Amino acid sequence: MSKVARIPGYQSKNPKQNRGIIGDREIRYKCSLQNVILDVLRGRPGWTEVPGQNSQVPAAQQGTRPSNDGDWDFYWCDREWLHQNYDTMFLHEHQKILHFRNHYELTRKNLMVKNLKRLRKQTEREQGKTEAQSFDFYPTTYELPSEYHIFVEEFKKNLGIIWIMKPAAKSQGKGIFLFRRLKDITDWKKGEYQPLSDQTRDVPETYVVQRYIENPLLIGGRKFDVRVYVLVCSYNPLKVWLYRGGFARFSNTRFSLDSIEDTYVHLTNVAVQKNAPDYDPEKGCKWSTQQLRKYLAAKHGVDKVQKMFKSIDNIIIKSLQSVQKIIINDKHCFEMYGYDVLLDSDLKPWLIEINASPSLTASGKEDYDLKFGLLSDLLNVLDLENRLTGKEKRIGGWDLLWDDGPIVADDNMDCTPANGSAVSTPNSYLGCFNDRKKQLREIYLTAQSVKKS
Ligand code: ADP
Repeated sequence: MSKVARIPGYQSKNPKQNRGIIGDREIRYKCSLQNVILDVLRGRPGWTEVPGQNSQVPAAQQGTRPSNDGDWDFYWCDREWLHQNYDTMFLHEHQKILHFRNHYELTRKNLMVKNLKRLRKQTEREQGKTEAQSFDFYPTTYELPSEYHIFVEEFKKNLGIIWIMKPAAKSQGKGIFLFRRLKDITDWKKGEYQPLSDQTRDVPETYVVQRYIENPLLIGGRKFDVRVYVLVCSYNPLKVWLYRGGFARFSNTRFSLDSIEDTYVHLTNVAVQKNAPDYDPEKGCKWSTQQLRKYLAAKHGVDKVQKMFKSIDNIIIKSLQSVQKIIINDKHCFEMYGYDVLLDSDLKPWLIEINASPSLTASGKEDYDLKFGLLSDLLNVLDLENRLTGKEKRIGGWDLLWDDGPIVADDNMDCTPANGSAVSTPNSYLGCFNDRKKQLREIYLTAQSVKKS
């Protein structure tokens, strides 16, 4: 632990204070990705990369250090690796690894909705209809082919509305299309989806069909969605952190319902938009969440915007609760989710999907800085160095939203309603000022003096 800390307050001058859960030695990590997370890990004082099968350390350097799996303390692995190895792997007390075993219960589009529907029903049964309405944040959705007949009934009740069809397990807008007529899916069924009786294929690919939000909130005539980062350190008890930073992703082309086949109008994924013929990489298609919050507050009023952000908190907590009893909880695991939220013209947030591996590749300088801060602070929350007290409600840009119950804010910072009267304001600051370095300096100093005394 001899390197100089880059984050002020990060490393104590007293070597005894630098003992982590690992003990009095460097922290050894593995990383399956080559993007901002690797930069963060490589730049972290006292952390050393372990060569191994998935490590980025060149093969020539391998053999200088032990490479069997028990020799790492922290592993930013990909999902495939976890699926292949978790069941046969023994995790030592000190080891931390990305992803819970069955994270897909929340991050596959069909399973997410299935779990939400189940908790909604249970809530209605136990607490009544009004309470169950707090689940009205995902568009009506059916799984195909299993719920095809129920979907057709619903379709006939609402002729003329637009539906969106999405492969359950794909991402980046792949395989998505919009339709108004049942005939369009008849064509799709003939082309893409083969019935089970067709012996030449495996089980048909699962899709979800979802009511399309026809009235998205527009800025400059363009549709956007919001990426929100959420960190879960434990499912039992549920412990949830919300990152203040994030971004809005805009479509490149003005919104219109006349051209429902035009993905550049309707899908806000960067992977889709960057292929648009008039896409300008300089201008890009992102706003920071802070910029968005300021704009919305100026246009719609602080109170309305505060209410909207509170609804996003509700989406986060309800969705996590919907899988709380299903996820295989393991104290070695953590998950950083990327939530995709769409706002409609009434400023109502809709949950579109939850990603277990949100992109950590930076699209520009601002995006790099956001992701670097996000991931550095994630490591600060996990605190393998054991420098914090464990009682913090805020660590850098992460605010503790839920710890077996809602967390109440200590102060009314610059995002609370104008009248400032809110009693028990939630500890939630999405899109608020993120003075993370100053805050880290303060909490590390406080933690040092608490530990000394
Ligand atoms: P993927 O995993 O392929 O990114 P998403 O479910 O996130 O799939 O959808 C891709 C994009 O399509 C979203 O970012 C959003 O812009 C748009 N979209 C998806 N579902 C809806 C919906 N129900 N209403 C309006 N737009 C939607």
